[in-house]
Amino acid sequence: MAKETNGDRRSPFTGSSGRFFLGVLIMAGVFACAAAAYGQSSGSSSAPGEAGEPYPNMPSIAPIGVRIAKYLDVPASALGPAIDPAKGYRLQDLGKGLYMITDNAYQSMFLVYDRGVVVIDAPPGFAAHIPQAIADVSDKQITHIIYSHSHIDHIGGARALGGHPIIIAQEETLRLLKRAADPNRPLPTVTFSDKYTLRVGNQVLELSYHGNAHEPGNIFIYAPAQRVLMVVDIVFPGWMPWRRFALAQDIPGYFAQVEEIRKMDWDTLVGGHVARTGTHADVEVQAEFNRDVKQAAATALATTKPGEGLNPLDKANPWAGFDNYIDRVAAQCVNTLGPKWSTKLAGFDVYIWDQCYAMEQSLRIE
Ligand SMILES: [Zn+2]
Repeated sequence: MAKETNGDRRSPFTGSSGRFFLGVLIMAGVFACAAAAYGQSSGSSSAPGEAGEPYPNMPSIAPIGVRIAKYLDVPASALGPAIDPAKGYRLQDLGKGLYMITDNAYQSMFLVYDRGVVVIDAPPGFAAHIPQAIADVSDKQITHIIYSHSHIDHIGGARALGGHPIIIAQEETLRLLKRAADPNRPLPTVTFSDKYTLRVGNQVLELSYHGNAHEPGNIFIYAPAQRVLMVVDIVFPGWMPWRRFALAQDIPGYFAQVEEIRKMDWDTLVGGHVARTGTHADVEVQAEFNRDVKQAAATALATTKPGEGLNPLDKANPWAGFDNYIDRVAAQCVNTLGPKWSTKLAGFDVYIWDQCYAMEQSLRIE
């Protein structure tokens, strides 16, 4: 689209009728852009750097960077119990002194034992409610904090909990937090490499490290008496993972951890996000989605011809050639997954392009 701008004071576009005319031109331009974006052929050639015609067989799911008229509805299976707006959080009894706190976007836990309370993660969005949530069920003080991983959105409320708790984390989390030097995320005082068992009173938490997936240091937290497993930013019950497999730093590692969670013995999964806890059925769905997106991206990579439809004038630009190829791979990947998954996982349309781009990249280089 050619931009219709004119800063000349003597322009015929100035004055009230001129402003109207300029408005018409801008609107015409917007519609021309829309036609170019959604039509099969605009019939006009584009200037360098401008958007041209869409690729053949474009998915109906809008690609990254295109405004969505209306996102797909969220299936009922993705919803959870409502939050009391007066409280700002919801407390879920996971049994035998273990509780989940949530604002239906983030999830953390605390474990009550005979002389105190162990807090597991402190998302800054609701950390100020954690002392109240504890007071709802106990008069004990916080003695320990466990960090699931270093990310600020899960532990950035730790300092606000006050006191001088023992802070436990995997050693990679300590390294990352030293680098971050964030006063809101106090450094762990106890670290471990592979496994750590916390025994307090008659309560037990088994912490274990399964390598890099989401980020180095992200651990599994298992409460054996309650049969609850907490693993943050890996499985999102009822939902598509956050974009690019929840920003997994190691996508093969991410896929492997979903399989590990699937095979482990537990009754309730706390995933750190969304409005409800997870079941084995949720993890089965996530694992099946992972297999399908991997297959779809692999097939698209194998069957898409590099350079097809590329402007011959761009032949000397290998990055342009790759961009064109990868876009067509991602479009095929999204097309393959849509019929089965668009109504099965909430947010399919929001992040499926991100997942396909992340998957093809992982398959090509990891
Ligand atoms: Zn994270």
